[in-house]
Amino acid sequence: MNAIRFSLIMAAFTLFGCSQADNSAYVQDRIQARDGSEITLTFYSHASISVAWGGHTVYFDPVGENIDWKNQPKADLVLVTHDHYDHLDTAAIKALNGTGEYVKMSPGEESEPFEGVCVKAVPAYNITEGHLQFHPKERGDAGYILTVGGTTIYVAGDTEDNEDVLALRDVDIAFLPVNQPYTMTVEQCVRVVESIRPKIFYPYHFGGTDTPTDIDKLVEGVSSLTDVRIRPLE
Ligand code: ZN
Ligand code: ZN
Repeated sequence: MNAIRFSLIMAAFTLFGCSQADNSAYVQDRIQARDGSEITLTFYSHASISVAWGGHTVYFDPVGENIDWKNQPKADLVLVTHDHYDHLDTAAIKALNGTGEYVKMSPGEESEPFEGVCVKAVPAYNITEGHLQFHPKERGDAGYILTVGGTTIYVAGDTEDNEDVLALRDVDIAFLPVNQPYTMTVEQCVRVVESIRPKIFYPYHFGGTDTPTDIDKLVEGVSSLTDVRIRPLE
């Protein structure tokens, strides 16, 4: 028994011991931006991702006590969509950037935090009767459109297929939430993909509730429309 416990401790030590400023433990995609530069997407969990481009790393909704935030690449900007516990984790942000500072923009606001990097906040809200209280429009929860290297990355936050979402255009890469009852059903998500036609679509926020999301059905519904990529974003 003691030997097993010792082995487990050593295994844990080894795992944590080699994680200095290293995000290779997490799944990543490297994508060529429109201007030929490289974008690195890192997928942490659920709604937590990062976008690295041009020497800057932008984190979206970093959450989770099991993620080694302290040893991830320096956060130049932490964007939070809204204050639900699966999106805003002050301990994680503090571990990530040392200060706990983050930015929550209101829909309609735009900023250029670094040269060549643009962020626009867009609305995120529910429209289904009985679900309106989760993300009421008047609260001003946000999704973000980040533009780097001429490529637009839409991180939708918690939303349904409302008219503001369906009206979005010129989205290259989209992260859309698909879980019940808080965000979109598979059908709603397919409708959004049909409308905004991202070149690459990452379903995200597709777990965390008792109602499983039928990912196979989602992939089937969008595979003729976009490059759908499933990553560990339950
Ligand atoms: Zn939420
Ligand atoms: Zn959520």
